[in-house]
Amino acid sequence: MTPASKSRKRVLSGMRPTGKLHLGNYVGALQNWVRMQDEYECFFCVVDWHALTTDYADTSQVKSNSLEAAFDFLAAGLDPERSVIFLQSHIPAHAELHLLLSMITPLGWLERVPTYKEQRENIRDKDLGTYGFLGYPVLQAADILAYKADVVPVGEDQVAHIELTREIARRFNGFYGTGQPVFPEPQSLLTPSPRLPGTDGRKMSKSYGNAILLADPEPVVRQKLKTMVTDPARVRRSDPGNPDVCPVGDLHKIFSSKETMAKVNEGCRSAGIGCIECKGWAADALVSLLNPMQERRRKYEENPRLAWDILEDGTRRASAAAAETMKDVRAAMEMSLDYEAPKVAQQ
Ligand code: SF4
Repeated sequence: MTPASKSRKRVLSGMRPTGKLHLGNYVGALQNWVRMQDEYECFFCVVDWHALTTDYADTSQVKSNSLEAAFDFLAAGLDPERSVIFLQSHIPAHAELHLLLSMITPLGWLERVPTYKEQRENIRDKDLGTYGFLGYPVLQAADILAYKADVVPVGEDQVAHIELTREIARRFNGFYGTGQPVFPEPQSLLTPSPRLPGTDGRKMSKSYGNAILLADPEPVVRQKLKTMVTDPARVRRSDPGNPDVCPVGDLHKIFSSKETMAKVNEGCRSAGIGCIECKGWAADALVSLLNPMQERRRKYEENPRLAWDILEDGTRRASAAAAETMKDVRAAMEMSLDYEAPKVAQQ
Protein backbone atom coordinates (compact mmCIF):
# COMPACT_ATOMS: atom_id res chain seq x y z
CA MET A 1 0.00 0.00 0.00
CA THR A 2 1.38 3.44 -0.85
CA PRO A 3 1.40 6.17 1.84
CA ALA A 4 -1.18 8.11 -0.20
CA SER A 5 -3.56 5.16 -0.32
CA LYS A 6 -3.36 4.72 3.48
CA SER A 7 -4.92 8.12 4.01
CA ARG A 8 -7.85 7.35 1.72
CA LYS A 9 -10.91 5.37 2.65
CA ARG A 10 -11.08 1.94 1.11
CA VAL A 11 -13.99 1.03 -1.13
CA LEU A 12 -14.98 -2.46 -2.23
CA SER A 13 -17.57 -3.37 -4.77
CA GLY A 14 -18.26 -6.33 -6.99
CA MET A 15 -20.32 -7.39 -9.95
CA ARG A 16 -21.53 -10.82 -10.96
CA PRO A 17 -20.26 -11.98 -14.32
CA THR A 18 -23.28 -12.20 -16.59
CA GLY A 19 -21.47 -11.61 -19.90
CA LYS A 20 -21.46 -8.27 -21.66
CA LEU A 21 -22.67 -5.46 -19.40
CA HIS A 22 -25.50 -3.11 -20.31
CA LEU A 23 -26.38 0.54 -19.80
CA GLY A 24 -28.22 -0.30 -16.57
CA ASN A 25 -25.00 -1.76 -15.12
CA TYR A 26 -23.23 1.41 -16.21
CA VAL A 27 -25.55 3.99 -14.66
CA GLY A 28 -26.27 1.82 -11.60
CA ALA A 29 -22.67 1.02 -10.71
CA LEU A 30 -19.80 1.31 -13.17
CA GLN A 31 -20.10 5.02 -13.82
CA ASN A 32 -19.89 5.60 -10.11
CA TRP A 33 -16.91 3.29 -9.67
CA VAL A 34 -15.03 5.23 -12.32
CA ARG A 35 -15.65 8.47 -10.41
CA MET A 36 -14.66 6.95 -7.08
CA GLN A 37 -11.16 6.22 -8.30
CA ASP A 38 -10.13 9.82 -7.63
CA GLU A 39 -11.24 9.80 -4.02
CA TYR A 40 -10.92 6.28 -2.63
CA GLU A 41 -8.55 3.37 -2.51
CA CYS A 42 -10.56 1.13 -4.81
CA PHE A 43 -11.02 -2.64 -4.97
CA PHE A 44 -13.38 -3.82 -7.71
CA CYS A 45 -14.12 -7.49 -8.03
CA VAL A 46 -15.71 -9.83 -10.54
CA VAL A 47 -17.62 -11.97 -8.06
CA ASP A 48 -17.69 -15.20 -10.03
CA TRP A 49 -18.48 -17.41 -7.03
CA HIS A 50 -21.69 -15.43 -6.62
CA ALA A 51 -22.71 -16.51 -10.12
CA LEU A 52 -22.76 -20.07 -8.77
CA THR A 53 -25.37 -19.27 -6.11
CA THR A 54 -28.01 -19.30 -8.83
CA ASP A 55 -26.25 -20.80 -11.88
CA TYR A 56 -24.50 -23.69 -10.18
CA ALA A 57 -25.71 -26.36 -12.62
CA ASP A 58 -23.90 -24.98 -15.64
CA THR A 59 -20.54 -23.31 -15.08
CA SER A 60 -19.44 -23.39 -18.72
CA GLN A 61 -19.87 -19.64 -19.22
CA VAL A 62 -18.56 -18.33 -15.90
CA LYS A 63 -14.96 -17.84 -16.95
CA SER A 64 -15.68 -16.21 -20.31
CA ASN A 65 -18.36 -14.06 -18.69
CA SER A 66 -15.80 -12.92 -16.12
CA LEU A 67 -13.46 -11.86 -18.88
CA GLU A 68 -16.28 -10.01 -20.66
CA ALA A 69 -17.03 -8.17 -17.40
CA ALA A 70 -13.36 -7.22 -17.14
CA PHE A 71 -13.46 -5.87 -20.72
CA ASP A 72 -16.41 -3.68 -19.78
CA PHE A 73 -14.85 -2.51 -16.49
CA LEU A 74 -11.79 -1.35 -18.41
CA ALA A 75 -13.81 0.03 -21.31
CA ALA A 76 -15.93 2.11 -18.94
CA GLY A 77 -12.80 3.72 -17.52
CA LEU A 78 -11.59 1.68 -14.56
CA ASP A 79 -7.87 2.22 -14.44
CA PRO A 80 -5.69 -0.65 -13.18
CA GLU A 81 -3.14 1.91 -11.99
CA ARG A 82 -5.68 3.44 -9.64
CA SER A 83 -7.95 0.47 -8.88
CA VAL A 84 -7.35 -3.12 -7.92
CA ILE A 85 -9.46 -5.10 -10.39
CA PHE A 86 -9.63 -8.78 -9.53
CA LEU A 87 -11.36 -12.13 -9.66
CA GLN A 88 -13.02 -13.38 -6.47
CA SER A 89 -12.50 -17.10 -7.09
CA HIS A 90 -8.73 -16.70 -7.32
CA ILE A 91 -8.48 -15.54 -3.71
CA PRO A 92 -9.10 -18.42 -1.28
CA ALA A 93 -9.30 -15.92 1.64
CA HIS A 94 -12.87 -15.14 0.52
CA ALA A 95 -13.80 -18.78 1.01
CA GLU A 96 -11.97 -19.10 4.32
CA LEU A 97 -13.58 -16.00 5.75
CA HIS A 98 -16.98 -17.07 4.39
CA LEU A 99 -16.64 -20.32 6.31
CA LEU A 100 -15.63 -18.59 9.55
CA LEU A 101 -18.42 -16.01 9.28
CA SER A 102 -20.93 -18.77 8.46
CA MET A 103 -20.18 -20.28 11.87
CA ILE A 104 -21.38 -17.18 13.70
CA THR A 105 -24.26 -16.04 11.48
CA PRO A 106 -27.70 -16.99 12.84
CA LEU A 107 -29.98 -18.59 10.25
CA GLY A 108 -32.78 -16.16 11.08
CA TRP A 109 -30.66 -13.23 9.88
CA LEU A 110 -30.34 -14.84 6.45
CA GLU A 111 -33.96 -15.90 6.15
CA ARG A 112 -35.00 -12.30 6.80
CA VAL A 113 -32.95 -10.83 3.92
CA PRO A 114 -35.59 -9.32 1.57
CA THR A 115 -33.87 -10.38 -1.67
CA TYR A 116 -33.74 -14.00 -0.44
CA LYS A 117 -37.51 -14.29 -0.16
CA GLU A 118 -38.10 -12.27 -3.30
CA GLN A 119 -35.77 -14.34 -5.48
CA ARG A 120 -37.04 -17.65 -4.11
CA GLU A 121 -40.53 -16.58 -5.11
CA ASN A 122 -39.62 -15.10 -8.50
CA ILE A 123 -37.02 -17.48 -9.88
CA ARG A 124 -38.99 -20.62 -10.64
CA ASP A 125 -36.78 -22.34 -13.21
CA LYS A 126 -33.98 -23.16 -10.72
CA ASP A 127 -33.93 -24.85 -7.37
CA LEU A 128 -32.70 -22.12 -5.04
CA GLY A 129 -33.30 -24.17 -1.92
CA THR A 130 -29.55 -24.57 -1.51
CA TYR A 131 -27.17 -23.87 1.35
CA GLY A 132 -25.09 -21.65 -0.96
CA PHE A 133 -28.03 -19.49 -1.99
CA LEU A 134 -29.20 -18.89 1.56
CA GLY A 135 -25.63 -18.08 2.57
CA TYR A 136 -24.68 -15.76 -0.26
CA PRO A 137 -25.03 -12.61 1.88
CA VAL A 138 -22.38 -14.15 4.15
CA LEU A 139 -20.10 -14.61 1.15
CA GLN A 140 -20.78 -10.98 0.32
CA ALA A 141 -19.88 -10.01 3.88
CA ALA A 142 -16.64 -11.99 3.52
CA ASP A 143 -15.87 -10.19 0.23
CA ILE A 144 -16.19 -6.84 1.99
CA LEU A 145 -14.62 -7.66 5.34
CA ALA A 146 -11.62 -9.46 3.78
CA TYR A 147 -10.45 -5.98 2.73
CA LYS A 148 -11.68 -4.15 5.85
CA ALA A 149 -13.52 -1.90 3.43
CA ASP A 150 -14.79 1.38 4.86
CA VAL A 151 -17.33 2.06 2.17
CA VAL A 152 -19.48 -0.03 -0.16
CA PRO A 153 -21.34 1.70 -2.99
CA VAL A 154 -24.77 0.11 -3.35
CA GLY A 155 -28.18 0.54 -4.89
CA GLU A 156 -31.19 0.68 -2.56
CA ASP A 157 -31.91 -3.05 -2.91
CA GLN A 158 -28.50 -3.89 -1.47
CA VAL A 159 -28.66 -1.73 1.66
CA ALA A 160 -30.07 -4.64 3.70
CA HIS A 161 -27.04 -6.74 2.72
CA ILE A 162 -24.60 -4.14 3.95
CA GLU A 163 -26.56 -3.85 7.18
CA LEU A 164 -26.19 -7.61 7.55
CA THR A 165 -22.44 -7.31 6.90
CA ARG A 166 -22.26 -4.71 9.68
CA GLU A 167 -24.15 -7.02 12.05
CA ILE A 168 -21.85 -9.93 11.22
CA ALA A 169 -18.77 -7.72 11.75
CA ARG A 170 -20.17 -6.55 15.09
CA ARG A 171 -20.87 -10.12 16.18
CA PHE A 172 -17.38 -11.23 15.16
CA ASN A 173 -15.80 -8.29 16.99
CA GLY A 174 -17.95 -9.07 20.03
CA PHE A 175 -16.77 -12.69 20.17
CA TYR A 176 -13.13 -12.30 19.25
CA GLY A 177 -12.07 -8.64 19.31
CA THR A 178 -10.00 -8.21 22.44
CA GLY A 179 -10.47 -4.53 23.13
CA GLN A 180 -9.99 -3.61 19.51
CA PRO A 181 -12.44 -4.50 16.74
CA VAL A 182 -10.98 -6.76 14.05
CA PHE A 183 -13.34 -5.45 11.39
CA PRO A 184 -14.55 -1.92 10.78
CA GLU A 185 -18.29 -1.70 10.14
CA PRO A 186 -18.56 -0.72 6.48
CA GLN A 187 -20.82 2.13 5.46
CA SER A 188 -23.25 1.95 2.53
CA LEU A 189 -22.75 4.67 0.02
CA LEU A 190 -26.08 4.96 -1.71
CA THR A 191 -25.45 5.52 -5.39
CA PRO A 192 -28.01 7.54 -7.27
CA SER A 193 -29.58 5.09 -9.69
CA PRO A 194 -32.01 6.83 -12.01
CA ARG A 195 -34.75 4.68 -13.50
CA LEU A 196 -33.30 3.18 -16.64
CA PRO A 197 -35.92 1.47 -18.77
CA GLY A 198 -35.11 -1.17 -21.34
CA THR A 199 -36.52 -1.15 -24.85
CA ASP A 200 -39.86 -2.60 -23.66
CA GLY A 201 -40.24 -0.01 -20.89
CA ARG A 202 -39.54 -2.44 -18.03
CA LYS A 203 -36.36 -2.10 -15.96
CA MET A 204 -33.36 -2.81 -18.18
CA SER A 205 -32.25 -6.37 -17.59
CA LYS A 206 -30.58 -9.06 -19.65
CA SER A 207 -33.14 -11.59 -18.51
CA TYR A 208 -35.96 -9.49 -20.03
CA GLY A 209 -34.15 -9.29 -23.38
CA ASN A 210 -34.59 -5.50 -23.37
CA ALA A 211 -31.03 -4.36 -22.73
CA ILE A 212 -28.76 -2.03 -24.68
CA LEU A 213 -25.25 -3.39 -24.22
CA LEU A 214 -22.19 -1.22 -23.71
CA ALA A 215 -20.62 -3.15 -26.58
CA ASP A 216 -23.56 -2.76 -29.00
CA PRO A 217 -22.31 -1.21 -32.26
CA GLU A 218 -23.99 1.98 -33.49
CA PRO A 219 -26.40 0.29 -35.97
CA VAL A 220 -27.60 -2.06 -33.22
CA VAL A 221 -28.13 0.83 -30.78
CA ARG A 222 -30.12 2.72 -33.42
CA GLN A 223 -32.19 -0.35 -34.27
CA LYS A 224 -32.97 -1.04 -30.61
CA LEU A 225 -34.05 2.57 -30.13
CA LYS A 226 -36.33 2.35 -33.17
CA THR A 227 -38.28 -0.49 -31.59
CA MET A 228 -38.38 1.09 -28.13
CA VAL A 229 -41.83 1.69 -26.66
CA THR A 230 -43.00 5.30 -26.23
CA ASP A 231 -45.77 7.20 -24.44
CA PRO A 232 -48.76 4.89 -25.16
CA ALA A 233 -51.10 7.91 -25.40
CA ARG A 234 -49.18 9.21 -28.41
CA VAL A 235 -50.73 7.04 -31.09
CA ARG A 236 -50.55 9.41 -34.09
CA ARG A 237 -47.83 11.87 -35.06
CA SER A 238 -50.32 14.70 -34.41
CA ASP A 239 -51.05 13.55 -30.81
CA PRO A 240 -49.14 15.47 -28.14
CA GLY A 241 -47.08 13.23 -25.83
CA ASN A 242 -45.46 13.37 -22.43
CA PRO A 243 -41.72 12.62 -22.00
CA ASP A 244 -42.33 12.00 -18.28
CA VAL A 245 -44.23 8.80 -19.03
CA CYS A 246 -42.14 7.74 -22.01
CA PRO A 247 -39.17 5.35 -21.68
CA VAL A 248 -37.35 7.25 -24.45
CA GLY A 249 -37.93 10.43 -22.38
CA ASP A 250 -36.25 8.64 -19.45
CA LEU A 251 -33.20 7.93 -21.60
CA HIS A 252 -33.02 11.58 -22.63
CA LYS A 253 -33.12 12.67 -18.98
CA ILE A 254 -30.07 10.56 -18.21
CA PHE A 255 -27.98 10.86 -21.35
CA SER A 256 -28.98 13.94 -23.38
CA SER A 257 -27.80 17.52 -23.03
CA LYS A 258 -30.03 20.20 -21.51
CA GLU A 259 -30.57 21.67 -24.97
CA THR A 260 -31.78 18.38 -26.40
CA MET A 261 -33.96 17.78 -23.35
CA ALA A 262 -35.57 21.19 -23.89
CA LYS A 263 -36.27 20.34 -27.55
CA VAL A 264 -37.78 16.99 -26.51
CA ASN A 265 -39.99 18.56 -23.85
CA GLU A 266 -41.28 21.26 -26.12
CA GLY A 267 -41.55 19.19 -29.29
CA CYS A 268 -43.19 16.16 -27.69
CA ARG A 269 -45.80 18.08 -25.71
CA SER A 270 -46.76 20.20 -28.74
CA ALA A 271 -46.55 17.34 -31.26
CA GLY A 272 -43.90 19.46 -32.99
CA ILE A 273 -41.56 16.46 -33.33
CA GLY A 274 -42.18 12.84 -34.20
CA CYS A 275 -41.05 9.90 -32.10
CA ILE A 276 -38.66 8.73 -34.83
CA GLU A 277 -36.78 12.03 -34.70
CA CYS A 278 -36.79 12.01 -30.90
CA LYS A 279 -35.45 8.46 -30.77
CA GLY A 280 -32.71 9.46 -33.22
CA TRP A 281 -31.55 12.15 -30.74
CA ALA A 282 -31.55 9.60 -27.91
CA ALA A 283 -29.51 7.23 -30.08
CA ASP A 284 -27.04 10.08 -30.83
CA ALA A 285 -26.50 10.62 -27.10
CA LEU A 286 -25.95 6.91 -26.47
CA VAL A 287 -23.60 6.50 -29.40
CA SER A 288 -21.42 9.38 -28.25
CA LEU A 289 -21.29 7.88 -24.74
CA LEU A 290 -20.51 4.38 -25.99
CA ASN A 291 -18.04 5.19 -28.77
CA PRO A 292 -15.02 5.93 -26.55
CA MET A 293 -15.83 2.90 -24.39
CA GLN A 294 -15.97 0.65 -27.44
CA GLU A 295 -12.70 2.09 -28.66
CA ARG A 296 -11.06 1.07 -25.37
CA ARG A 297 -12.86 -2.29 -25.38
CA ARG A 298 -11.53 -3.16 -28.83
CA LYS A 299 -7.96 -3.26 -27.53
CA TYR A 300 -8.92 -6.01 -25.04
CA GLU A 301 -11.17 -7.91 -27.44
CA GLU A 302 -8.29 -8.11 -29.90
CA ASN A 303 -5.91 -9.22 -27.18
CA PRO A 304 -7.89 -10.75 -24.29
CA ARG A 305 -4.65 -11.74 -22.59
CA LEU A 306 -4.14 -8.05 -21.71
CA ALA A 307 -7.33 -8.03 -19.65
CA TRP A 308 -6.51 -11.39 -18.09
CA ASP A 309 -3.07 -10.07 -17.07
CA ILE A 310 -4.75 -7.07 -15.43
CA LEU A 311 -7.04 -9.42 -13.50
CA GLU A 312 -4.09 -11.56 -12.45
CA ASP A 313 -2.11 -8.56 -11.29
CA GLY A 314 -5.15 -7.23 -9.41
CA THR A 315 -5.66 -10.64 -7.87
CA ARG A 316 -2.08 -10.60 -6.55
CA ARG A 317 -2.57 -7.16 -5.00
CA ALA A 318 -5.97 -8.05 -3.53
CA SER A 319 -4.58 -11.34 -2.19
CA ALA A 320 -1.89 -9.48 -0.27
CA ALA A 321 -4.48 -7.17 1.32
CA ALA A 322 -6.80 -10.07 2.20
CA ALA A 323 -3.87 -12.07 3.64
CA GLU A 324 -3.20 -9.21 6.12
CA THR A 325 -6.82 -9.34 7.26
CA MET A 326 -6.77 -13.12 7.58
CA LYS A 327 -3.71 -12.91 9.86
CA ASP A 328 -5.70 -10.62 12.16
CA VAL A 329 -8.76 -12.88 11.95
CA ARG A 330 -6.82 -16.04 12.83
CA ALA A 331 -4.96 -14.27 15.64
CA ALA A 332 -8.22 -12.94 17.09
CA MET A 333 -9.71 -16.45 16.99
CA GLU A 334 -6.52 -17.88 18.47
CA MET A 335 -6.11 -20.03 15.38
CA SER A 336 -2.94 -18.54 13.95
CA LEU A 337 -0.82 -20.77 11.74
CA ASP A 338 2.26 -20.23 13.93
CA TYR A 339 3.33 -22.95 16.35
CA GLU A 340 2.21 -22.38 19.92
CA ALA A 341 2.78 -24.65 22.88
CA PRO A 342 -0.45 -26.36 23.99
CA LYS A 343 -2.35 -24.51 26.68
CA VAL A 344 -2.77 -26.26 29.97
CA ALA A 345 -6.50 -26.79 30.48
CA GLN A 346 -7.76 -24.76 33.41
CA GLN A 347 -9.18 -26.86 36.25
S1 SF4 B 1 -41.57 12.37 -28.88
FE1 SF4 B 1 -39.98 11.33 -27.70
S2 SF4 B 1 -40.53 11.61 -25.56
FE2 SF4 B 1 -42.35 12.07 -26.81
S3 SF4 B 1 -43.48 10.14 -26.88
FE3 SF4 B 1 -42.20 10.24 -28.72
S4 SF4 B 1 -40.34 9.17 -28.12
FE4 SF4 B 1 -41.42 9.69 -26.25
